[in-house]
Amino acid sequence: MKQETIYECELCHSTFYDKERCERCEKSHYIPKKIESCYYSFELNTGYPKNIIIKFENGSLVKYEAQYELL
Ligand SMILES: [Zn+2]
Repeated sequence: MKQETIYECELCHSTFYDKERCERCEKSHYIPKKIESCYYSFELNTGYPKNIIIKFENGSLVKYEAQYELL
């Protein structure tokens, strides 16, 4: 019987037989650092922000639009 090791990216949960490919996958994901700003809508007021700008650890800013799906 042969036993194999599988590595799982802790961020996207992809699995790899090769440890270095898994490490590259983990390093390819940018980590959110903080919410830079939130925008609310008066017309479509759900109480939640309509969009949010997130600052990532690499300094980039990314805007996310809400789909108002409560989980
Ligand atoms: Zn990954």
